[in-house]
Amino acid sequence: MDCIFCKIIKNQIPSSKVYEDGRVLAFDDAAPRAPVHILVVPKTHVDSVADLNDMDLVRDLFSVMKKIAREKGIDKTGYRIVVNHGKDAGQAVPHLHFHLLGGRPLKWPPG
Ligand code: AMP
Repeated sequence: MDCIFCKIIKNQIPSSKVYEDGRVLAFDDAAPRAPVHILVVPKTHVDSVADLNDMDLVRDLFSVMKKIAREKGIDKTGYRIVVNHGKDAGQAVPHLHFHLLGGRPLKWPPG
């Protein structure tokens, strides 16, 4: 499958890895919108959050995000987790990814 995040997972294209285990990979976003902007993805291909049915995987993804937030020191200052699904949300990469953003005050609501 021609999926850019699957290629990152298979080390076929480079990324700045932040965390990896058997089921989850986290890497720096190539176009960061905040001092901390990390993408957290399942290693198995899931098109979008609408196709996420594996609750064990949901638990793993969120526990990785909590761990990274602690390690990056944004657990106390605050952070935002964003998932875009589909056209109106601007999902550009059709492989489920959680944006973990922090390190500065984040505006709300988003545009
Ligand atoms: P979304 O709009 O939610 O699909 O977000 C896709 C994100 O993937 C964007 O923030 C991009 O900057 C990021 N991105 C695209 N290609 C890469 C890549 N090769 N390495 C890291 N981040 C990427």
